[in-house]
Amino acid sequence: MTVFDHVEFDNHEQVVFCRDVQAGLYAIVAIHSTALGPAAGGCRMWPYASAADALTDVLRLSKAMSYKSALAGLPLGGGKAVILGDPAVDKNERLLHAFGRCVQHLGGRYWTAEDVGTGLSDVQIIGEQCDYVFGTSVSPAPYTALGVFEGMRAAVAYQLERGNFRGLRVAVQGLGNVGRHLCHLLHDAGAELIVTDINPAAVSYAVEFFDAKTVAPSAIYGQPADVFSPCALGGILNDTTIPLLQASIVAGAANNQLGERRHAQTLADRSILYAPDYLINAGGLLSASREILHDEGEAELLHRIRRIYSTALRVFVTADEHGRTTADVADSLALAQLADSQLADSQLAEEELDYSGIEGISAL
Ligand code: NAD
Repeated sequence: MTVFDHVEFDNHEQVVFCRDVQAGLYAIVAIHSTALGPAAGGCRMWPYASAADALTDVLRLSKAMSYKSALAGLPLGGGKAVILGDPAVDKNERLLHAFGRCVQHLGGRYWTAEDVGTGLSDVQIIGEQCDYVFGTSVSPAPYTALGVFEGMRAAVAYQLERGNFRGLRVAVQGLGNVGRHLCHLLHDAGAELIVTDINPAAVSYAVEFFDAKTVAPSAIYGQPADVFSPCALGGILNDTTIPLLQASIVAGAANNQLGERRHAQTLADRSILYAPDYLINAGGLLSASREILHDEGEAELLHRIRRIYSTALRVFVTADEHGRTTADVADSLALAQLADSQLADSQLAEEELDYSGIEGISAL
């Protein structure tokens, strides 16, 4: 099998295999699309079991970045990088510098940032050898949380016909950078929180500041909640967990929540409204990308993040009208953008959609 036949290849524009013998670097940079602008996406460092696993991961992640940027209305393409290795053992300045030189050689076709296994300080080190780093000044997590909140608000309006969170029960899985900020927003909005995390300190914080009820990690799926919000891991919506869900909405920050593509249909079959992850978790990218685009102040940024509400609503309405899953509709919207189509060209045009009968929406 060649890279071109890979099941995740999806016509990537460029896939670069990077090797630096002195630094011990093995990395892959995947550029899915630059149709809308330079490809942007984080650099993940992970002890992959094989180079094949790393390739699969980077191809999947870079395509998701194309879709995320397109739906967020950003003039950016999709790309991602992976460094093969254990960040706790193998990460050092020499390695990061070597990676920075690889990105520099791409001449701005790909911009890199932090991701799992790399942090702000690592990106700053990469930036010593590379002009194309972003997300180095402000933490993206509060902006990601705000976007998730907006996407969840749209789901609550559509599915529950509610214009506010007062008294709604939200089960939050993962109380890290995003989950903690999301809990803050939900608590302020009057939601009751049921939370879990494998980190006891994160759980204690949520109990103390958000009056949250806590459950064991394995018990979060079956909680009697209105909304389930995955903010920890990918792949958590699968054949085992979906039957356990009592919530009628899934809306969270975690990337790649669907175990497999078909699980979008499994959720729909159970009348659970799924807010596509890359649609509602784009707030951090919107914030960080200001370092590439140099064109937005805070007010414009917040406006763009709040637009996640109307985009999510459009996806929900269209999915219902056409008997499709929300994941399919979100992909179609992103692809239309990538093909440089106008949304107005399609049946997805906003003016064709009638929100007036949705009680929660008129109340907003
Ligand atoms: P984080 O590492 O700060 O937080 C993740 C939290 O999940 C941690 O507190 C961890 O202890 C907890 N966790 C891990 N395994 C768990 C389990 N089995 N059960 C319960 N909790 C568990 O990460 P983050 O920045 O908050 O991001 C959360 C998710 O959102 C990730 O999937 C990330 O890829 C995605 N995301 C984050 C951003 C961002 O701006 N940080 C943007 C887009 C998407």
